[in-house]
Amino acid sequence: MAISFDLTGKAALVTGANTGIGQAIALALSEAGADVAVAGRSEPSETLAAIAATGRKAVNIKADLGSTEPVQRLVDEALAGLRRIDILVNNAGIIRRDDLLDFSEADWDAVIDTNLKVLFFLSQAAARHMAERGSGKIINIASLLTFQGGIRVPSYAAAKSGVGGVTKAMANELAPKGVQVNAIAPGYISTNNTAALQSDETRNRQILERIPSGCWGKPEDIAGAAVFLAAPASDYVTGQILAVDGGWLAR
Ligand code: NAP
Repeated sequence: MAISFDLTGKAALVTGANTGIGQAIALALSEAGADVAVAGRSEPSETLAAIAATGRKAVNIKADLGSTEPVQRLVDEALAGLRRIDILVNNAGIIRRDDLLDFSEADWDAVIDTNLKVLFFLSQAAARHMAERGSGKIINIASLLTFQGGIRVPSYAAAKSGVGGVTKAMANELAPKGVQVNAIAPGYISTNNTAALQSDETRNRQILERIPSGCWGKPEDIAGAAVFLAAPASDYVTGQILAVDGGWLAR
């Protein structure tokens, strides 16, 4: 039997796909054959045009994922636009930086809500549909801070560690229903999210010194892992957190 990375006929929902890692994943899924709904608060016109250019259907769903309020509508609109959801990519995320001793409750709540709470409840809503159909793939975007504590980002470390936990918890209960749940832990990838780090000369040098590959990753570097975890090739892979980090965690 040929190993399949083909997503022809599949439908994907990707959050936060107007830019960065989400945009690269949405485009790669469409290049592999999937129709794609993108959900977020900013206009994703560049992503929609790039998906359409691959010949696949692109659906835009406006939603602020800072709370669970739009979650059910989001799934309903994706189903209305694509008729099914085979693949969910929970990519939308934020980071707040401050010294531990000054870290505010607002910065704690915002990051936990967007990066962890919404990720869980959107997965739950999509999984109800997937379980009914007996198949599906959920891909959560984790972080190196799923494994490490970081500096000045306690709510982000807590949320991304939580993403690792719910990835495994969801995988255990959904495997018997034909749904695989995995996470990708990107290393240092050049996006808006990391612009502040890249422009801090000292931090940038310290980071590069620790990456065996010797450079920042690009959003496209994450896309191949996403296609693998969305495709039949990964049907026996579940509950895993795949680091795509230029070797950072191996040091
Ligand atoms: P990015 O360029 O800042 O993209 C983040 C995406 O999430 C944007 O589309 C953003 O939309 C969306 N988003 C944030 N809050 C939202 C909300 N309340 N409602 C709807 N959409 C919202 O950052 P990125 O680096 O591509 O990050 C993507 C994911 O990878 C995140 O989960 C991040 O934690 C993770 N990650 C990134 C790195 C890295 O090195 N870059 C490393 C590890 C993990 P707006 O444009 O409207 O803000």
